[in-house]
Amino acid sequence: MDGQQKTGTTAGDENGARALAGTGVSPGAGYGPAHVLAGEIPEPDKEARHDGDAAAERARAERAVEEVAADLEARGARAGGEAQDVLGAQALMARDPSLAVEVGELIDRGVAAPRAVFDAFGKYRDLLAAAGGYLAERVTDLDDIRDRVIAVLTGMPMPGVPTGAAEPFVLVAKDLAPADTALLSKDVVAAFVTEQGGPTSHTAILARSMGVPAVVGCAGATAIAPGAPVLVDGASGQVLVAPDPARVAEARAADEARHAALSAATGPGATADGHPVPLLANVGGPRDLDGALANGAEGVGLYRTEFLFLDRETAPSGREQEEAYRAVFEAFPGGRVVVRTLDSGADKPLAFLPPPEEEPNPALGERGLRMFRRYPEIMTAQLGALARAAAGVSAKVQVMAPMVATVEEAEWFAEACRTAGLGEAGVMIEVPSAALRAADLIRAVDFFSIGTNDLTQYALAADRQVSAVAGLQDPWHPAVLDLIAMAASAASESGKGCGVCGEAAADPVLACVLVGLGVTSLSMGAPALPWVRACLARHTLAQCRAAAAAARSAASAPAAKAAARAELPGLEALAL
Ligand code: PEP
Ligand code: MG
Repeated sequence: MDGQQKTGTTAGDENGARALAGTGVSPGAGYGPAHVLAGEIPEPDKEARHDGDAAAERARAERAVEEVAADLEARGARAGGEAQDVLGAQALMARDPSLAVEVGELIDRGVAAPRAVFDAFGKYRDLLAAAGGYLAERVTDLDDIRDRVIAVLTGMPMPGVPTGAAEPFVLVAKDLAPADTALLSKDVVAAFVTEQGGPTSHTAILARSMGVPAVVGCAGATAIAPGAPVLVDGASGQVLVAPDPARVAEARAADEARHAALSAATGPGATADGHPVPLLANVGGPRDLDGALANGAEGVGLYRTEFLFLDRETAPSGREQEEAYRAVFEAFPGGRVVVRTLDSGADKPLAFLPPPEEEPNPALGERGLRMFRRYPEIMTAQLGALARAAAGVSAKVQVMAPMVATVEEAEWFAEACRTAGLGEAGVMIEVPSAALRAADLIRAVDFFSIGTNDLTQYALAADRQVSAVAGLQDPWHPAVLDLIAMAASAASESGKGCGVCGEAAADPVLACVLVGLGVTSLSMGAPALPWVRACLARHTLAQCRAAAAAARSAASAPAAKAAARAELPGLEALAL
């Protein structure tokens, strides 16, 4: 593995295997049969009629429904737990006798089975939707059954992600939505491969948080035959279809060697020559604490508090907030916990904090701290809950605001934190204006934390949610590195800390560059911690600085990465 990420397709042969190339976004080797996530099942032709044998067509429809119900049950039995209940309930819905009657009547009138299923399910769908509440929420389940039955009848690939598969599979899709992946775990997915998306896409973030190898932006991936064995290299971005067994054995051996190298690095983060770099975890609430602790997080560098409230219609009560905050503080006695106040808007809309008007560019609209200017009472309530939760715990609690663009905003936020009785207030550096004028901003606050996901989006003017411009969303771009360097040196000149909590910190090679740029702590999804710890432990501060300087003198993101790698020997041992 050369460790170079590639984009685009280089379909070709490697010892008989077909090779595709994308961007490696979550390192490691994954091997398993491809499960190609089908697109939407198209609506069957309205006019389609069967050949006149209604009895045979009815029997065909009944067999398809039964096949789907039995499959749902079987997958439920394999998965067990909550998934079994959900899939069992879906099987019951599929076998609902009134649906069978409806389908049969339509077939008797000459309608072809796929259309009869579509229309019969459509009628129940409307009834459920009109009933509202819990019943309306079952509409998605009903649509899923309908699509499965139609897939069986028409021979199309089955929609959805399989659960309870016999062996871990490589999930291949155009792109993945959160709903596609909610029930997935490392035990069922060997790797992700998507045609769209970039390093900060949902798939990339999810894969890193699960510790599953992933390649995104891999053109032609959905043409891989379902069930074909696939070997995925989440570092180099190479995807081999039907690889030689020797190649698979080699990748597995490299994986084992890498795991041994990973477990050799333990304890607090530091470079090879002992320069300390606290390694912290990004969490979305108490449920992420086990992973953070298991991976040796020294604290929390980004507590994304909006994740607690994403699906809420009303603002959470002060007490509820206080409990969620305290649970995280108590997990790190004596450690540092950096809490970000609600980052509502754009990619994280909160129902109880709606922007006043339809925004043509939500990423440039009222999001993050700007939302608090509109709803100051929500900020006061959150800061109050944080101050109460912080009282009496030994964790060092620091609070920061997202999406700060001006000194005046930073001063306003820091003052609000002081009024609430919170000791340390900081701002995220996510907007180029904040990085460019970091020397002014740092006077207003106690620390910086660089959000490289948004900083990259705004520096390159590439919406992180638009996959067509995902190629630009690359934190290795020297323009982004320059902005990071400006923020880090302004903080250092004032004797204050400057962490990174965007996805860039989870890239072990880029993490070394960030340290070389003067960043003082790194925060990431927990599964990346061992990688970053091991990579830092293999390089001196001088090597990190040399890598940072080389990257900044390059003219493009790929050149910056190549230049940095040349200054950091031994990356191969970690398969990076
Ligand atoms: C960032 O922008 O880098 C960041 C950490 O915040 P989020 O990804 O939650 O916007
Ligand atoms: Mg952000």
